[in-house]
Amino acid sequence: EALNKMLDIKGSIRVFCRVRPFLSVNKRRIFEPISIGSEKILVKMGGTMKEFEFDKVFSQEASQEFVFKEVEPILRSALDGHNVCVLSYGQTCTGKTFTMDGTNEHPGIVPRALEELFRQAALDNSTSVTFSMSMLEVYMGNLKDLLASKPHSRAYESVTKCNLNIQTDPKGLVEIEGLSEVQVPDYAKARWWYNKGRRVRSTSWTNVNELSSRSHCLTRIAISRHGDASEAKMETSKLWMVDLGGSERLLKTGATGLTLDEGRAINLSLSALGDVIAALRRKRGHVPYRNSKLTQILKDSLGDGSKVLMLVHASPCEEDVGETICSLSFAKRAR
Ligand code: ADP
Ligand code: MG
Repeated sequence: EALNKMLDIKGSIRVFCRVRPFLSVNKRRIFEPISIGSEKILVKMGGTMKEFEFDKVFSQEASQEFVFKEVEPILRSALDGHNVCVLSYGQTCTGKTFTMDGTNEHPGIVPRALEELFRQAALDNSTSVTFSMSMLEVYMGNLKDLLASKPHSRAYESVTKCNLNIQTDPKGLVEIEGLSEVQVPDYAKARWWYNKGRRVRSTSWTNVNELSSRSHCLTRIAISRHGDASEAKMETSKLWMVDLGGSERLLKTGATGLTLDEGRAINLSLSALGDVIAALRRKRGHVPYRNSKLTQILKDSLGDGSKVLMLVHASPCEEDVGETICSLSFAKRAR
């Protein structure tokens, strides 16, 4: 039983890699430092070649549909009662938000997942499933409720007073005190709330480019099953979809406009996340969840019985190759 549990943990973390296409601003394209196989990526830096292996590698040509097809089975295990965590990781401007949110024309994982959850739930006559949604932003260790009925003022300083408390109940389930949870009866309503959350998020910042690099944006779908007799299944499972802050190292924060403290906060929480996943991979005793708000929030969705998918994003550009290797090394550690 215990062994099965361990094997389950080992099998429950997947790492996919997605390489962003060249953008029109990437003019200085001298040579392409990256070559891609279906499960491998080769990065050339100086005279050396580094090879990374992942569960899947998506090239520049991979469409949103194609990516979603690979992600879908993991989402479906949320309906089967597992806690699921999808993490979008990478340097700023590598496509983390594109993968999660996408655009109206090319919707990403979150809108597709919402649509699919409602579709799947409607197909299942034996159980009745209901969904609720929460969204929060984590910025420098502060939690901001993105679906609160009275959004806080624009200034972030005033929000820190209303910082939410993270509690763990005796069963090990995480509860965020006071976090709004809205019932979503159908896809249209879910989209409406999701768009609202994203709007609230973007108004906390004076400049749109700042927002994704400085904070983590977390969307939680709580899935409740009624009339389910199976003991093995949880009554409520959680699906977390997380657009992480930019993973660039402190040295480069000047270029991204981050303050030193902001860069540190993000780096701390990302390395705490990496430490937790690595500990889960090693299947050894202590898992250091307490080291960041991010890992405290996700605690019950990263360990035992849960499914984790990390999507690591990489730039195709030569000037980013150092960061690319850092991101891929981080992800490799998780795998
Ligand atoms: P991040 O969230 O990592 O900072 P974004 O998702 O904002 O990066 O992506 C940066 C820019 O690149 C955006 O203009 C986005 O539309 C574009 N982009 C990223 N990935 C892709 C992709 N796979 N296909 C087309 N455009 C992309
Ligand atoms: Mg972003």
